[in-house]
Amino acid sequence: MTFLTLDSLAKAYGGFHAVENLSLEVRRGEFLSLLGPSGCGKTTTLQMIAGFVEPTHGGILLEGRDITALRPEKRGMGVVFQSYALFPHMTVAANIGFGLEMRGVACAERRRRIDETLELVRLGGLGKRYPRELSGGQRQRVAIARALAIRPEVLLLDEPMSNLDAKLREDMHIELRAIQRHLGITTILVTHDQVEAMTMSDRIAVMHGGRIVQLAAPLEAYERPQSAFASGFLGKTNAIRGVVEKTNPRCCEVRLGATLAHVPHEGREVGKEVHVYVRPEKIRLAPANAGGIPATVQTRLFLGNHWMLEVQSALGLLRVSQPNHGASPPEEGSAVSVLWSDDDLRVLTAEQHHG
Ligand code: ATP
Repeated sequence: MTFLTLDSLAKAYGGFHAVENLSLEVRRGEFLSLLGPSGCGKTTTLQMIAGFVEPTHGGILLEGRDITALRPEKRGMGVVFQSYALFPHMTVAANIGFGLEMRGVACAERRRRIDETLELVRLGGLGKRYPRELSGGQRQRVAIARALAIRPEVLLLDEPMSNLDAKLREDMHIELRAIQRHLGITTILVTHDQVEAMTMSDRIAVMHGGRIVQLAAPLEAYERPQSAFASGFLGKTNAIRGVVEKTNPRCCEVRLGATLAHVPHEGREVGKEVHVYVRPEKIRLAPANAGGIPATVQTRLFLGNHWMLEVQSALGLLRVSQPNHGASPPEEGSAVSVLWSDDDLRVLTAEQHHG
């Protein structure tokens, strides 16, 4: 069921279109990420939902109510900013209770809710400290607690984990997702980190140039990107140029150098140039005489839980990722054979590749 609707939202600054014709339906209790590179319009979109930026065009509906013109504090939304924006002269408890005080919640109830929220973000007992007396991770929890204390209908998160180190960030992904599920709170996260978006979200809206270019569940978005941009932004990939050689109603044959790949038809035309994508982890390396595409290992990097290799082949340089099962993959300079399953190939037309 749709809970929050963005209807043809747009924001222009002078002649510059930061967000264009953006429509999105967010379900109740859903965790949705706006994912994209710097400047694609993620924050502007979030700020329009929060009420800090006025749309040039379009509307925002919450449970069918038009809230486009409503003041931010009347929207019932909790916001966590990248900078956390804590009040330095107030204790942790006062920071968390601030929104409640503004809403006229009585003192005893305020205290109860502050304690409850502190427990929720595992900061029990730290209410009397000041922000300067906390670690970065703890400060971030206070910011989340402050947003949650008002029991918002929607939680808006603007890159809230970007100031944390990698290990802490990973822990927070799991923890924040658990809190969100526990409370069942509809959440929108702005991030440029595809791992963060994939770990936490029910759905990801991939943004590019002020528009949503793909909206899908994480696995679907990763496995079936609809453009070269989405493919490259959601993870590493190899792009190989090919030409459609034959089609039949169900499948088509794409020539990739000396190799023929059989891929789903999807409206391909004979003679058309296409780009075939294969993710590094979908490629297998076998001994040189194993019948795949001949290649030579050029680079081999050990990354702990996996190996990353670059192999030079007749199709160009290909990136290959192999899980670390204890044994080393072929050394640099080794002759190998590159294998994949045609089911793991994704094909985009030249227009989708460039678009
Ligand atoms: P980042 O991840 O770097 O925060 P973003 O995807 O969140 O990027 P936005 O902050 O939404 O991007 O900005 C989108 C575009 O709108 C950018 O090109 C930005 O320069 C422009 N922009 C944002 N705010 C304003 C403003 N107040 N005046 C003019 N241009 C703006």
